[in-house]
Amino acid sequence: MNAPLVIAIDGPSGSGKSSVSKAVARSLQIGYLDAGAMYRALTWWCLDQGVDLDDREAVAAAARSLPLDLGTSPQDPRVVVNGTDITAAIRTTEVSSAVSSVAVNTLVRPILQQVQRDQIALIAQRDGGVVAEGRDITTVVAPDAPVRILLTASEEARLRRRSTELHGHADAQAVAATRDQIVRRDRDDSTVSQFTQAADGVILIDTSELDFAGSVQAVLDVVARVRD
Ligand code: C5P
Repeated sequence: MNAPLVIAIDGPSGSGKSSVSKAVARSLQIGYLDAGAMYRALTWWCLDQGVDLDDREAVAAAARSLPLDLGTSPQDPRVVVNGTDITAAIRTTEVSSAVSSVAVNTLVRPILQQVQRDQIALIAQRDGGVVAEGRDITTVVAPDAPVRILLTASEEARLRRRSTELHGHADAQAVAATRDQIVRRDRDDSTVSQFTQAADGVILIDTSELDFAGSVQAVLDVVARVRD
Protein backbone atom coordinates (compact mmCIF):
# COMPACT_ATOMS: atom_id res chain seq x y z
CA MET A 1 0.00 0.00 0.00
CA ASN A 2 1.83 3.06 -1.22
CA ALA A 3 -0.81 5.78 -1.22
CA PRO A 4 0.71 9.27 -1.26
CA LEU A 5 1.09 10.69 2.23
CA VAL A 6 -1.12 13.73 2.85
CA ILE A 7 -0.38 15.53 6.11
CA ALA A 8 -2.88 18.28 6.96
CA ILE A 9 -1.81 20.80 9.60
CA ASP A 10 -3.99 23.64 10.91
CA GLY A 11 -3.39 26.13 13.65
CA PRO A 12 -3.53 29.76 14.75
CA SER A 13 -0.92 32.44 14.02
CA GLY A 14 2.34 31.96 15.86
CA SER A 15 1.74 28.27 16.58
CA GLY A 16 4.87 27.50 14.57
CA LYS A 17 2.73 25.93 11.86
CA SER A 18 4.63 27.25 8.83
CA SER A 19 8.18 26.59 9.93
CA VAL A 20 7.26 23.21 11.43
CA SER A 21 5.31 22.18 8.30
CA LYS A 22 8.25 23.05 6.04
CA ALA A 23 10.72 21.20 8.26
CA VAL A 24 8.48 18.11 8.33
CA ALA A 25 8.17 18.18 4.52
CA ARG A 26 11.96 18.53 4.18
CA SER A 27 12.58 15.70 6.59
CA LEU A 28 10.17 13.37 4.76
CA GLN A 29 11.31 14.68 1.37
CA ILE A 30 7.79 15.47 0.22
CA GLY A 31 6.07 18.60 -1.13
CA TYR A 32 4.57 21.55 0.72
CA LEU A 33 1.44 23.65 0.31
CA ASP A 34 0.89 26.93 2.18
CA ALA A 35 -2.83 27.78 1.99
CA GLY A 36 -2.28 31.04 3.85
CA ALA A 37 0.09 32.17 1.11
CA MET A 38 -2.82 31.87 -1.35
CA TYR A 39 -5.05 34.17 0.71
CA ARG A 40 -2.10 36.53 1.13
CA ALA A 41 -1.30 36.48 -2.61
CA LEU A 42 -4.93 37.24 -3.47
CA THR A 43 -4.92 40.11 -0.97
CA TRP A 44 -1.70 41.51 -2.46
CA TRP A 45 -3.13 41.18 -5.98
CA CYS A 46 -6.36 43.01 -5.05
CA LEU A 47 -4.40 45.84 -3.40
CA ASP A 48 -2.09 46.01 -6.42
CA GLN A 49 -4.96 46.06 -8.90
CA GLY A 50 -7.03 48.53 -6.90
CA VAL A 51 -9.82 46.01 -6.21
CA ASP A 52 -11.97 47.21 -3.30
CA LEU A 53 -11.64 44.56 -0.58
CA ASP A 54 -15.19 45.31 0.59
CA ASP A 55 -16.56 44.45 -2.87
CA ARG A 56 -17.19 40.74 -2.29
CA GLU A 57 -18.00 39.95 -5.93
CA ALA A 58 -14.97 41.80 -7.28
CA VAL A 59 -12.63 39.99 -4.87
CA ALA A 60 -14.20 36.64 -5.84
CA ALA A 61 -13.66 37.49 -9.52
CA ALA A 62 -10.01 38.28 -8.74
CA ALA A 63 -9.74 34.90 -6.96
CA ARG A 64 -11.10 33.10 -10.04
CA SER A 65 -8.55 34.72 -12.36
CA LEU A 66 -5.60 35.00 -9.93
CA PRO A 67 -2.41 34.45 -11.99
CA LEU A 68 -0.68 32.62 -9.13
CA ASP A 69 2.40 30.45 -9.29
CA LEU A 70 2.84 29.01 -5.79
CA GLY A 71 6.11 27.22 -5.03
CA THR A 72 5.72 23.80 -3.45
CA SER A 73 9.30 23.11 -2.44
CA PRO A 74 9.71 23.20 1.36
CA GLN A 75 13.30 24.45 0.88
CA ASP A 76 12.28 27.84 -0.50
CA PRO A 77 8.62 28.19 -1.50
CA ARG A 78 8.44 31.29 -3.71
CA VAL A 79 5.17 33.07 -4.39
CA VAL A 80 4.79 34.63 -7.84
CA VAL A 81 1.78 36.57 -9.14
CA ASN A 82 1.59 37.68 -12.73
CA GLY A 83 5.37 37.26 -13.07
CA THR A 84 6.22 39.30 -9.94
CA ASP A 85 7.93 37.55 -7.03
CA ILE A 86 5.88 38.60 -3.97
CA THR A 87 7.34 36.13 -1.47
CA ALA A 88 8.42 38.96 0.83
CA ALA A 89 5.62 41.39 -0.06
CA ILE A 90 2.88 39.08 1.20
CA ARG A 91 4.42 39.12 4.71
CA THR A 92 4.24 42.90 5.14
CA THR A 93 1.99 44.43 7.80
CA GLU A 94 -0.17 45.89 5.03
CA VAL A 95 -1.06 42.45 3.69
CA SER A 96 -1.18 40.77 7.12
CA SER A 97 -3.65 43.40 8.33
CA ALA A 98 -5.91 43.08 5.27
CA VAL A 99 -5.82 39.33 4.61
CA SER A 100 -8.64 38.38 7.00
CA SER A 101 -11.12 40.58 5.15
CA VAL A 102 -10.39 38.50 2.04
CA ALA A 103 -10.42 35.20 3.96
CA VAL A 104 -13.84 35.85 5.54
CA ASN A 105 -15.36 36.48 2.11
CA THR A 106 -17.49 33.37 1.68
CA LEU A 107 -17.55 33.80 -2.10
CA VAL A 108 -13.75 33.52 -2.14
CA ARG A 109 -13.27 30.52 0.16
CA PRO A 110 -14.75 27.76 -2.04
CA ILE A 111 -12.67 29.01 -4.97
CA LEU A 112 -9.35 28.83 -3.09
CA GLN A 113 -10.36 25.64 -1.28
CA GLN A 114 -10.86 23.90 -4.63
CA VAL A 115 -7.48 25.13 -5.90
CA GLN A 116 -5.95 23.77 -2.68
CA ARG A 117 -7.62 20.34 -3.14
CA ASP A 118 -6.35 20.14 -6.72
CA GLN A 119 -2.85 21.20 -5.65
CA ILE A 120 -2.73 18.70 -2.78
CA ALA A 121 -3.66 15.86 -5.14
CA LEU A 122 -1.13 16.98 -7.72
CA ILE A 123 1.79 17.52 -5.34
CA ALA A 124 1.08 14.31 -3.40
CA GLN A 125 1.07 12.30 -6.61
CA ARG A 126 4.20 13.97 -7.97
CA ASP A 127 6.30 14.09 -4.77
CA GLY A 128 4.97 11.01 -2.99
CA GLY A 129 3.33 13.17 -0.34
CA VAL A 130 2.55 16.69 0.82
CA VAL A 131 2.32 18.72 3.99
CA ALA A 132 -0.57 21.16 3.57
CA GLU A 133 -0.96 23.86 6.20
CA GLY A 134 -3.67 26.41 6.91
CA ARG A 135 -6.74 27.06 9.02
CA ASP A 136 -9.29 24.63 7.51
CA ILE A 137 -7.21 21.92 5.84
CA THR A 138 -8.04 19.26 8.46
CA THR A 139 -11.75 20.13 8.45
CA VAL A 140 -12.80 21.38 5.00
CA VAL A 141 -10.06 21.11 2.37
CA ALA A 142 -8.71 17.62 3.16
CA PRO A 143 -10.88 16.04 5.89
CA ASP A 144 -9.93 12.59 4.56
CA ALA A 145 -6.17 13.14 4.87
CA PRO A 146 -4.52 10.18 6.62
CA VAL A 147 -2.67 12.51 9.00
CA ARG A 148 -4.51 15.51 10.47
CA ILE A 149 -2.93 17.68 13.12
CA LEU A 150 -3.93 20.83 14.96
CA LEU A 151 -0.82 22.69 16.11
CA THR A 152 -1.56 25.12 18.92
CA ALA A 153 0.27 27.12 21.56
CA SER A 154 -0.83 29.43 24.35
CA GLU A 155 -1.62 33.01 23.34
CA GLU A 156 1.39 34.16 25.36
CA ALA A 157 3.77 31.80 23.53
CA ARG A 158 2.33 32.77 20.14
CA LEU A 159 2.65 36.49 20.83
CA ARG A 160 6.22 36.05 22.06
CA ARG A 161 7.26 34.03 19.01
CA ARG A 162 5.68 36.30 16.41
CA SER A 163 7.00 39.41 18.18
CA THR A 164 10.54 38.02 18.11
CA GLU A 165 10.11 37.12 14.44
CA LEU A 166 8.80 40.57 13.45
CA HIS A 167 10.73 42.85 15.82
CA GLY A 168 13.72 40.76 16.88
CA HIS A 169 12.62 40.81 20.53
CA ALA A 170 9.55 40.38 22.72
CA ASP A 171 9.48 43.39 25.06
CA ALA A 172 6.10 44.87 26.08
CA GLN A 173 5.99 47.37 23.20
CA ALA A 174 6.83 44.78 20.54
CA VAL A 175 4.26 42.37 21.94
CA ALA A 176 1.59 45.09 21.87
CA ALA A 177 2.45 45.90 18.25
CA THR A 178 2.15 42.24 17.34
CA ARG A 179 -1.21 41.78 19.03
CA ASP A 180 -3.24 42.95 16.02
CA GLN A 181 -1.53 40.42 13.80
CA ILE A 182 -2.22 37.56 16.17
CA VAL A 183 -5.27 38.11 18.35
CA ARG A 184 -7.44 40.26 16.09
CA ARG A 185 -6.58 38.30 12.94
CA ASP A 186 -7.31 34.94 14.59
CA ARG A 187 -10.58 36.30 15.95
CA ASP A 188 -11.66 37.41 12.47
CA ASP A 189 -10.45 34.18 10.86
CA SER A 190 -12.33 32.14 13.48
CA THR A 191 -15.63 33.40 12.13
CA VAL A 192 -15.18 31.21 9.03
CA SER A 193 -12.83 28.41 10.16
CA GLN A 194 -12.54 26.34 13.30
CA PHE A 195 -8.86 26.07 14.24
CA THR A 196 -8.77 26.47 18.01
CA GLN A 197 -10.11 23.05 18.92
CA ALA A 198 -9.26 19.75 17.31
CA ALA A 199 -12.13 18.37 15.25
CA ASP A 200 -13.02 14.67 15.50
CA GLY A 201 -10.04 12.52 14.50
CA VAL A 202 -7.62 15.47 14.45
CA ILE A 203 -4.57 15.09 16.70
CA LEU A 204 -3.76 18.05 18.94
CA ILE A 205 -0.14 19.08 19.47
CA ASP A 206 0.43 21.92 21.92
CA THR A 207 3.84 23.50 21.25
CA SER A 208 3.77 26.04 24.13
CA GLU A 209 6.47 24.16 26.02
CA LEU A 210 8.28 22.76 22.98
CA ASP A 211 11.14 24.33 21.08
CA PHE A 212 11.29 24.19 17.29
CA ALA A 213 13.07 20.82 17.04
CA GLY A 214 10.69 19.36 19.62
CA SER A 215 7.67 20.58 17.66
CA VAL A 216 8.97 19.05 14.42
CA GLN A 217 9.68 15.77 16.22
CA ALA A 218 6.18 15.72 17.74
CA VAL A 219 4.66 15.93 14.25
CA LEU A 220 7.04 13.30 12.86
CA ASP A 221 6.10 10.99 15.75
CA VAL A 222 2.41 11.32 14.87
CA VAL A 223 3.15 10.62 11.21
CA ALA A 224 5.19 7.52 12.14
CA ARG A 225 2.40 6.27 14.41
CA VAL A 226 -0.26 6.70 11.74
CA ARG A 227 1.91 5.01 9.11
CA ASP A 228 2.64 1.95 11.29
O1 C5P B 1 -0.95 31.18 7.89
P1 C5P B 1 -0.94 32.63 7.50
O2 C5P B 1 -0.81 33.56 8.65
O3 C5P B 1 0.04 32.96 6.42
O4 C5P B 1 -2.39 32.86 6.86
C1 C5P B 1 -2.76 34.11 6.38
C2 C5P B 1 -4.27 34.26 6.41
O5 C5P B 1 -4.88 33.46 5.42
C3 C5P B 1 -4.97 33.89 7.71
O6 C5P B 1 -4.93 34.94 8.66
C4 C5P B 1 -6.38 33.62 7.23
O7 C5P B 1 -7.07 34.86 7.09
C5 C5P B 1 -6.16 33.05 5.83
N1 C5P B 1 -6.26 31.59 5.79
C6 C5P B 1 -7.52 31.01 5.71
N2 C5P B 1 -7.65 29.66 5.57
C7 C5P B 1 -6.57 28.88 5.49
C8 C5P B 1 -5.27 29.45 5.58
C9 C5P B 1 -5.15 30.81 5.75
O8 C5P B 1 -8.52 31.72 5.80
N3 C5P B 1 -6.72 27.56 5.33
